[in-house]
Amino acid sequence: MEQIKYDPASLKAEEFINHQEILDTLQYAQDNKTNRELIDQILDKARLRKGLTHREASVLLACELEDKNNELFELAEQIKKDFYGNRIVLFAPLYLSNYCINGCLYCPYHLKNKTIARKKLTQDEIREEVIALQDMGHKRLAIEAGEDPVNNPLDYILESIKTIYSIHHKNGDIRRVNVNIAATEEEDYKKLKEAGIGTYILFQETYNKEGYEKLHPTGPKSNYCYHTEAHDRAMRAGIDDVGLGVLFGLDSYPYEFAGLLMHAEHLEEVFGVGPHTISVPRVCPADDIDPTDFDNSLSDDLFLKIVACIRVAVPYTGMIISTRESQKVREKVLHLGISQISGGSKTSVGGYVEPEPEEENSAQFDVSDQRTLDEVVHWLMDMDYIPSFCTACYREGRTGDRFMSLCKAGQIQNCCLPNALMTLKEYMVDYASPETYEAGLKAIESQFDDITNEKVKEIVRDRLVRIEKGDRDFRF
Ligand code: SF4
Ligand code: SF4
Repeated sequence: MEQIKYDPASLKAEEFINHQEILDTLQYAQDNKTNRELIDQILDKARLRKGLTHREASVLLACELEDKNNELFELAEQIKKDFYGNRIVLFAPLYLSNYCINGCLYCPYHLKNKTIARKKLTQDEIREEVIALQDMGHKRLAIEAGEDPVNNPLDYILESIKTIYSIHHKNGDIRRVNVNIAATEEEDYKKLKEAGIGTYILFQETYNKEGYEKLHPTGPKSNYCYHTEAHDRAMRAGIDDVGLGVLFGLDSYPYEFAGLLMHAEHLEEVFGVGPHTISVPRVCPADDIDPTDFDNSLSDDLFLKIVACIRVAVPYTGMIISTRESQKVREKVLHLGISQISGGSKTSVGGYVEPEPEEENSAQFDVSDQRTLDEVVHWLMDMDYIPSFCTACYREGRTGDRFMSLCKAGQIQNCCLPNALMTLKEYMVDYASPETYEAGLKAIESQFDDITNEKVKEIVRDRLVRIEKGDRDFRF
């Protein structure tokens, strides 16, 4: 049988995520896991903050030299500070519908699960959910829906996005809707772009084609190539920002890691822009799903190392962690490279308005971090982070290569910090508990002088006062 060749510029999934290249990479990483000279060279290259290839990053992931691993963690922390400062952007998932015709073995929404309650929000119910989210203080949502052309056709998703953007309750509004729906056609992506979505997020789940086909025995998602090439179609349709992710625990983590970075390299090669975000979910418990059924589960220590390696390999790509992870784990990974987290999340359909009775469980996974958004905001500030509700880039047209060039030049920080302080102030005035308000005042004071441009400082000072008086939605 003719071997499929590796080509990052190819438009065929099996060529840009090439099985043999991944196997060779894993062998190379194993062969060099104690090669001090090579590891030093790779770390030196990573210090230039221009990223690493999948082979180089895989060597760091395999590295067994304790002192070099410590250097890796220090570098990840430094890169995180240089590119993202102290800000952590907050978002919430909004589940629209859990009807799904796919057979994914790791997800409770799979078609054959008869125990889960099936729900689909009407536009009125979406309105209620969005008001509940606005009343918490959220400005940025990620909408989620199963794949079901009858129950959740694209028109339903488009109508829902319109509904979400149209709601302005008190001082609340949702300013950015990211979309996490099944792989689809270029025409559909064009419609999503026209609807004003932020990032189109699609998790690969696993890059191993053979494993992928076993985990997706039925439904449209079972087509590995169609799924893997979806981000290309989205970008060709004009969606500038796409998000990648794998579900760690399904296949072996070094394989997934190499595949993920190869996917990022492919997007960079073909479109001149890498992924906007990378998510790092791990398999977790849910209705009908037992994580121990998947024997590739990751220890927390390995998980931290993966986050650190992704951070140094693609410094300019945002990294997202959800409430699948506990407070403890989230605390440990934030400083290593995470730039966005969800807070106060409900993973059930309609869960923000009313908590579900146990017998009506419609959740995609069990939330490990169950704190309210106010508690999460306070907790971030206790650790000297600035919680940010910023959505400025996409609204200012800073997407795709425009965004990336600012990010690569380290200039995006000039926008992120002022925007973080102003959106935090909005949150404090409109939604925070008195304790969080007080903590917010101290946080803003302690970070204010980190704004380097004197003119920007003046403008921010003025706007912070105006926010107290009722003005909203300032941004750089
Ligand atoms: S992972 Fe997505 S496609 Fe698969 S069953 Fe769950 S909702 Fe459906
Ligand atoms: S300025 Fe842009 S990159 Fe920075 S936090 Fe806001 S949206 Fe994100």
